Amino acid sequence: AATIKHVAVKSCIPSDRLDDMRLSTTMLEGKVALITGAASGIGEETVRLFAENGAFVVAADIEYELGHQVAASIGSDRVSYHHCDVRDEKQVEETINYTLEKYGSLDILFSNAGILGSLSGILDLDLNQFDNTLATNVRGVAATVKHAARAMVAKSIRGSIICTASVAACVGGTGPSGYTTSKHALLGLVRSACSELGAYGIRVNCVSPFGVATPLACGPFNLEPHQVEENSSDKANLKGVVLKAKHIAEAALFLASDESLYISGHNLVVDGGFTVVNHSFS
Ligand code: NAD
Repeated sequence: AATIKHVAVKSCIPSDRLDDMRLSTTMLEGKVALITGAASGIGEETVRLFAENGAFVVAADIEYELGHQVAASIGSDRVSYHHCDVRDEKQVEETINYTLEKYGSLDILFSNAGILGSLSGILDLDLNQFDNTLATNVRGVAATVKHAARAMVAKSIRGSIICTASVAACVGGTGPSGYTTSKHALLGLVRSACSELGAYGIRVNCVSPFGVATPLACGPFNLEPHQVEENSSDKANLKGVVLKAKHIAEAALFLASDESLYISGHNLVVDGGFTVVNHSFS
């Protein structure tokens, strides 16, 4: 099983200065964000981090109960849940309209909803399952980017759009052929949208995680995320699942904020160096 080797790096910054150097906690003050796949994992953590940083957030997901629980647990009228199945363009358009009506703007889209789908490789590919995976991971992202961008252009908002791809967008690996195909497709979508939307001052980027302890990654290994955190020896069973959702949320926060003002068309890989070392994710 692949594992991440941790390298001790001696910091040249005195530890009592590290707190001063943390990024501001108001990086998104007054901005309005829409996050899809917000009821669990990376999306849920990003809802919390964006809200902590001063944003108004619409947390959109297909999971009604969980989505409401996430919004209620934050306990602020800065965050509201909205039901949305990203496979349905009408629901996506309606969610964008809801965001505009509720908070008056749409400055940030984090198009993050995704599924792992079938674990089959190409030899056993079931094309109906392949279509299902692409319907969420590609069509769903395309719909959210399309309608968010149209709203931003109409209101002259110089927004930031971030899509969650994966290291499966950068390297291959035996295993989920549909998932790998879908995530590679997102790089094309982001680059094409970046080229077109730059003229309107809209930035479009990807964040590409690997090995985050969420239901999506733990499911195939029959582990709950909390089991990974409680017992680090489980990491080996998860083939390198060591990151936490907050590590990806922090990357999304950077790309959403003005700290990344001149970054567009970029794929920010957040994998602890895993891909560079392994050149394959399975
Ligand atoms: P997760 O299962 O915890 O969260 C995914 C969320 O997306 C869920 O709340 C789910 O209900 C929602 N969703 C699924 N289909 C939807 C639909 N049609 N419409 C609206 N919402 C829908 O998993 P996660 O790990 O947080 O995944 C978030 C993103 O990160 C996905 O795009 C995934 O491919 C990507 N990713 C995750 C990892 C990892 O190791 N966990 C690695 C690479 C990429």
